[in-house]
Amino acid sequence: MTRFSLRRRNRWIIASLQSIGPVNPQNQDVSELATALTTLQQSTEKTVIQWIPSHCNIQGNGEADRLAKEGGKLPQENQQVTFGEAKTIVKEKQRKRWLQQHPHYNPRDSYYQLSRKDQVIIVRLRTGHCRLRQHMFSKFHIGDTPVCHCGIADMTVEHLLQHCPIHQKLRAEIWSADTPVQEKIFGNLRSLRCTADFIRSSGVPV
Ligand SMILES: [Zn+2]
Repeated sequence: MTRFSLRRRNRWIIASLQSIGPVNPQNQDVSELATALTTLQQSTEKTVIQWIPSHCNIQGNGEADRLAKEGGKLPQENQQVTFGEAKTIVKEKQRKRWLQQHPHYNPRDSYYQLSRKDQVIIVRLRTGHCRLRQHMFSKFHIGDTPVCHCGIADMTVEHLLQHCPIHQKLRAEIWSADTPVQEKIFGNLRSLRCTADFIRSSGVPV
């Protein structure tokens, strides 16, 4: 006896095969399956169609899963979809593409709870793509010097947030204790808001 097993999501196929017989002109897949089963029946004593749940360690199920996944990746030109299904497919493709383009995306990142204005400040500090002297001078040859107004060092994100003496008073008002630069630009919501406040109050365009 040949036992032909179909996974849970394919229960409708069983119903289709049982209800409309071996040939279904409405669905090419079911029709091909019915033809294949007819051929199988001719070479075996008895063929049984049975639904089985997935993921229950039945031999061959893993291979069936793998083949189903491979098949799902192939173009499905002949498969008609509803408008709702098409929307879901497009959305999912866009979501995957966006995640590929943003490998560091973390939905729990406090950055996403900031106001739009604060997000702009934080993302510029994180990436270093900002209007600070060192970046503008070295990247675009804009300005006469990369050095900060204090004259001590290049005007970088770290210099501004951590060391520049011009902003020491403001820094001490916002952060009562020494805070690592990592915490200031990748920390929790409170940290990020403090950093955005510091930049705004410093008057330094970033
Ligand atoms: Zn400085």
